[in-house]
Amino acid sequence: MTERIVVVGAALFDAGRLLAARRSAPPELAGRWELPGGKVEPGESPEAALVRELREELGVDAEAVARVPGEWPLKPPYVLQAWTARLRPGSADPKPLQDHDELRWLAPDEIWDVDWLDQDVAAVRELSARPGGE
Ligand code: C5P
Repeated sequence: MTERIVVVGAALFDAGRLLAARRSAPPELAGRWELPGGKVEPGESPEAALVRELREELGVDAEAVARVPGEWPLKPPYVLQAWTARLRPGSADPKPLQDHDELRWLAPDEIWDVDWLDQDVAAVRELSARPGGE
């Protein structure tokens, strides 16, 4: 009946480290860590949504690199897809402007040091099978 709506999560890499963002809202997700991103709008490509969400949430100029294989169910009608991403030259450093209250750049051996949202664990596991995320 209802179309599924894609939520894009950005695996933003810089110098081999992965950005994790701690949610500040809603209450049931606050304190958990995620790949920053959000809902793809009607008529928008997932890559464009990713760039827009990273600009809004983190104040960065980023670009999508490659789709991470897989798709993970969220609360219907949402499904999570992940893309690797990188900062464009001259981008500002990421700052938690909305939805998040803390950011961390995780080295490969720190990737499981944060309490990822349940649904993001599968995406991060998929990522960790591709070192550097490139
Ligand atoms: O960020 P936004 O609120 O637009 O995300 C929509 C929904 O997608 C959130 O309620 C959250 O549950 C989910 N989400 C997620 N993992 C992400 C990003 C968003 O589960 N990496």
